Amino acid sequence: MTVSQGEKLVVVGAGQMGAGIAQVALQAGLQVTLVDVSTELLGKAAERIAAGLQKLVDKGKLDEAKRKILIDRLRTANSASQAKEIDFAIEAVTENEELKKRVFKELDGVVRAGGVMATNTSSIPITRIGAATRRPEAVIGMHFMNPVPVMSLVEIIRGAATSDGTFAATQSLAERMGKTTVVSRDFPGFIVNRILVPMLNEACFALMEGLGTVQDIDTAMKLGTNQPMGPLQLADFIGLDTVLYIADVLYKGLGDSKYRACPLLRQYVDAGWLGKKSGRGFYRY
Ligand code: NAD
Repeated sequence: MTVSQGEKLVVVGAGQMGAGIAQVALQAGLQVTLVDVSTELLGKAAERIAAGLQKLVDKGKLDEAKRKILIDRLRTANSASQAKEIDFAIEAVTENEELKKRVFKELDGVVRAGGVMATNTSSIPITRIGAATRRPEAVIGMHFMNPVPVMSLVEIIRGAATSDGTFAATQSLAERMGKTTVVSRDFPGFIVNRILVPMLNEACFALMEGLGTVQDIDTAMKLGTNQPMGPLQLADFIGLDTVLYIADVLYKGLGDSKYRACPLLRQYVDAGWLGKKSGRGFYRY
C-alpha cells in the first residue's frame, strides 16, 4: 500500500505542528484537508502555510504558478467527518490522551479501508491510541520535529499491532515529504526525547547545584560538544512546561529515579517562567 501523488490527506489540529505538516504535505503534492475546532486558528494556519510557501518562492525554490496550485489543494474544515475517502490521516491535536482517542474514533469512520491513521504525539503510547480504534493495525506514530518545514527528521513508531503495510505507507509518505526517517519502539519518549530530555534536565540540576552559571553551562555544552545551542537555551525554546511534562512521562513510564525532574525546572514552571514563549525562562526575551 502506498499513498500516491494527488491522494487525500487529512491533518487534524491546525496548531504549530499541524500547519507545518500540512505545508510539507502540500509541497509533496498531496491534497490536504486541515481540520481544527477553531475557525480562527484554521485561518491563521492557512496564512502561515501561504507565507511558508511564499518564502520558498522568494528563495527561488518554488515558482509562483506552482505555489498557487499547492494553495488550491488546501481545504479547511471544522470536523474530519467533512472529508471523505481519506487515504492518510495525521493527528496533531493538543497533547491529551482522551482528546486524541476521541479524534481517532472519528478518523476510524472517515479513513478508507486500507488507509493509515498516524499520530504526532510526543508522549502517549501508540499502542494505547490504536486500542481505542477498531483497526489498531492501521495506527502508527509519525513524530515530526518543530518547525516541521525546517527539521528533516521523522520518528516512526510502531504500536504493538501496527501492520507492515501501515509502516511501509508511513515511511514512503515521510520520504516523499523530504524527511529522513528513523524507527523507534513504542516506549516513553521514543528515541529523541528519551535522550534529549534527560540531558536538558541534567543541565537544570547542574545549574541548581551551582556547578556553573547559565552562560557557563550553555557555552560549555555548545563549544565542548559542538551543539548549535546550549541545553538551557534549548529548553527555553522548547518551553520549560513541555520539557517538564516529558520528564514526568519518562519518570512515570520507565519507573527509574534517574528520570526524576529537576526541582528547579518544576519551580520555574510553577512561576510561569516557561521560556521564550512567556518572555522569561533561564534567559529573558
Ligand atoms: P498546538 O497547541 O499549537 O495545536 C493544537 C491544535 O489542536 C490547536 O489548534 C487546537 O485548536 C486543536 N484541537 C484541539 N482539539 C481539537 C479537536 N477535537 N479537533 C481538531 N483540532 C483540535 O500544539 P502543537 O505544538 O502543534 O502540538 C500538537 C501535537 O504535536 C501534540 O501531540 C504534541 O505533543 C506534538 N508535538 C509537538 C511538538 C512541538 O515542538 N510543539 C513537536 C513534536 C510533536
